[in-house]
Amino acid sequence: MTDADLTPLFEAVRQAVHLCRTVQQTRLTSSDKGRSDPVTIADYGAQAILCRAISQVYPQDAIVAEEQGTQFLTLVPEPLRVEVCQLLAETLNVPVSQDDMVRWLDFGRGYAAERTWVIDPIDGTKGFLARRHYAIAVGLLHNGQPAGAVMAAPGYGDGGAVFWSLNGTAIRQGVDGAAPQAIHVSDRTAASDLRVVQSIDQSHFSSDRITRIYAALGLAGKQIISLDSMEKYARVASGEAELYLRVLDAGSTYRHNTWDHAAGAALVIAAGGQVTDVDGSPLDFSQGATLPNRGMIVTNGRIHARVVEAVQSVLRGE
Ligand code: AMP
Ligand code: MG
Repeated sequence: MTDADLTPLFEAVRQAVHLCRTVQQTRLTSSDKGRSDPVTIADYGAQAILCRAISQVYPQDAIVAEEQGTQFLTLVPEPLRVEVCQLLAETLNVPVSQDDMVRWLDFGRGYAAERTWVIDPIDGTKGFLARRHYAIAVGLLHNGQPAGAVMAAPGYGDGGAVFWSLNGTAIRQGVDGAAPQAIHVSDRTAASDLRVVQSIDQSHFSSDRITRIYAALGLAGKQIISLDSMEKYARVASGEAELYLRVLDAGSTYRHNTWDHAAGAALVIAAGGQVTDVDGSPLDFSQGATLPNRGMIVTNGRIHARVVEAVQSVLRGE
């Protein structure tokens, strides 16, 4: 349980969606943080908006967030820095300097046991650049446990949606705040009925292992829905899919980022689903920027034990 109020984040997430859409319409320029990890001015702009909102309402809280002030200053060329400040000033209706940007981007940096906000300003940047799916995600950790989430999915359905959860309630509403509806995971269990989501980026998971796991679950040949970003968690939370696997190649040294999973996991758990690593253990969000866990198994809960068993049997058989 947390006594945090998510209301200030709703407005901030909407402002971030507005900024992202403006950048998409007017100019898309990405710089590379390395290892083909693109970042745009919208990533910095959206994070600054979200961190600013948290700094105003919860000045004592900690934030674990993807982008950093020093990278903004060193990777983004001066004309683009000026442009993002202008965009933010228009979006927030206040003057915004580059110093403000850096201060907001780095506000509260670090993990704190009691309450930490976990921000991925644009999850699925490749999807954002290709005008597919992406998410603007804020997770809330209370004593290291996923306790809340506000996640905008601008490419969801007709016009996008904001998903949020707090203390066991999960809601979906329009980006403009219209028509809030409680969401819940589906109760499907039969292999023939299961709907499966996975990453669109083949380098983010082991196709070989996942194909064998699907086969072990009787899902061989099934039509899979591939999409970018944490919207996959939202699809499971809202009962539109039952299974989402993230399993890496044997020997992979990749560490999953906390911000890629905190909001999604909070949402799925609040909607009645289950999120574990490949061993069936809960994700450990208490270690800062990365998770110690190997892979993710995200389900509607009903099929979770069966999926963990299938994953384990495939990994054991290697
Ligand atoms: P998705 O669209 O579900 O693949 O999620 C996109 C996120 O995957 C990005 O924000 C990256 O942080 C993360 N990512 C990048 N490289 C990898 C990798 N090799 N394995 C798993 N996830 C990755
Ligand atoms: Mg991400």
